[in-house]
Amino acid sequence: MGSDSIECVSSIDGMDEEDTARTQSSKPHGGAAPPAGIAPSTSVHELLECPVCANSMYPPIHQCQNGHTLCSTCKTRVQNRCPTCRQELGDIRCLALEKVAESLELPCKYYSHGCPEVFPYYSKLKHESQCNYRPYNCPYAGSECSVVGDIPFLVTHLRDDHKVDMHTGCTFNHRYVKSNPREVENATWMLTVFNCFGQSFCLHFEAFQLGMAPVYMAFLRFMGDENDARNFSYSLEVGANGRKLTWEGTPRSIRDSHRKVRDSHDGLIIQRNMALFFSGCERKELKLRVTGRIWKEQQNSDAAVCMPNLCS
Ligand SMILES: [Zn+2]
Ligand SMILES: [Zn+2]
Ligand SMILES: [Zn+2]
Ligand SMILES: [Zn+2]
Repeated sequence: MGSDSIECVSSIDGMDEEDTARTQSSKPHGGAAPPAGIAPSTSVHELLECPVCANSMYPPIHQCQNGHTLCSTCKTRVQNRCPTCRQELGDIRCLALEKVAESLELPCKYYSHGCPEVFPYYSKLKHESQCNYRPYNCPYAGSECSVVGDIPFLVTHLRDDHKVDMHTGCTFNHRYVKSNPREVENATWMLTVFNCFGQSFCLHFEAFQLGMAPVYMAFLRFMGDENDARNFSYSLEVGANGRKLTWEGTPRSIRDSHRKVRDSHDGLIIQRNMALFFSGCERKELKLRVTGRIWKEQQNSDAAVCMPNLCS
């Protein structure tokens, strides 16, 4: 089951020449040193590392009667025994270490990816969970892929490891052919990557069960952050026999999971009957021709854009 039961035939109209810019070259990975002067000495760093789980310790930091420290997460797990000396743990805070931690300013852990920010120890975690330079998850759906990385890395990963089709150009003409349109599994889906405007976009196409009814859905995701995604729009069209369905929207960032976008119905949804109608009279085979276009929006700074799934 799955992707190999769908055959995908694609051609590019090649009318737009403005999109010849290539994907930006990738930044060196992990090679950069932390900004000079703010890197804590290793020993302080080691002091703040929980000896049990090796994560950074945040308050409350605990210690046993002999002075062995551990983090609050580990403290709840060790049943009141110090993991280092096996003595009773009690409820002693290590205020000195908490003070040391407070005095530290540390670079964001994604400094090697380009983040220039420096934070007081305790606000670092919060920033890192939102940092624009944090790695992206692999946008490939339908499998549990745990690969993370920056965009150039993920584009290469999609091409080489998931064998995803790559296209250059901001118009496309895609044919989805499936021999047995009666079987609709949640796992039936396709991914194509489009490179245009120096950016990459994922075109998803899939069949799934919406309530009781099987539907087909196509949508575009932007390989980058939400703020940048808003600079683009796209349209999708499917039709035959003098009828057509059109969808126009803003690509969603791949920060939003594939499933989240799908479940918010933020894309072109084709009912089964309509899909069979578009496929021709025999109804033996699903044959959908999806055309689309990606374009750049005029820079528009009035922020607060509402996502469909957040509005209801
Ligand atoms: Zn710990
Ligand atoms: Zn101890
Ligand atoms: Zn950062
Ligand atoms: Zn992957």
